[in-house]
Amino acid sequence: MRPLRWQVAVVAAAGLALALETLPAVLRWLWVRRRRPRPRREVLFFPSQVTCTEALLRSPGAAPSGCPCSLPHGESSLSRLLSALLAARASLELCLFAFSSPQLGRAVQLLHQRGVRVRVVTDCDYMALNGSQIGLLRKAGIQVRHDQDLGYMHHKFAIVDRKVLITGSLNWTTQAIQNNRENVLIMEDKEYVRLFLEEFERIWEEFNPTRFTFFPQKEGAR
Ligand SMILES: [Zn+2]
Repeated sequence: MRPLRWQVAVVAAAGLALALETLPAVLRWLWVRRRRPRPRREVLFFPSQVTCTEALLRSPGAAPSGCPCSLPHGESSLSRLLSALLAARASLELCLFAFSSPQLGRAVQLLHQRGVRVRVVTDCDYMALNGSQIGLLRKAGIQVRHDQDLGYMHHKFAIVDRKVLITGSLNWTTQAIQNNRENVLIMEDKEYVRLFLEEFERIWEEFNPTRFTFFPQKEGAR
């Protein structure tokens, strides 16, 4: 029995040494796992409380000062949506049926000023209405493309930095933001972002103005 006990002791010692050697690696792995931020998953519900968004929309270089207006200055669904958009550092794709909210318009212009590549796809019927932000965005030099057909370009989604998808029922209008029951999902999800980006690029190409036929000739009309 004696030789066997000796062997057991050797195996146990070797096991212990191995465990001690790998312990730091295991601890490091656990630490990294714990510190890695979870992918963003958020849902915003509307109507949004009316809050002041001036602090978020301050132009670059503007003095940071307390806003004297009488609106509440806390968080709201709109302010969280603005923050999610303003997090963009490289690119922003917008695919929106209706876009007339001045705050969201300002946020998009701010991003353009900061050098973020902004592209907008929208609906030709809604963009012609009074109060639409589309003309202002174009004037600011932002690329906008629109449909040319009877069916609506009815999407309401945004992609931030090819990483975060923002999508839901909300039209980007003050009327919808302040009055309607709506939902907006904000999610960091590679697969959904990939699928929505593919769709965006497909529509972007389809709405390329060089493909437009402004006066479609009916077969045999001449
Ligand atoms: Zn204020």
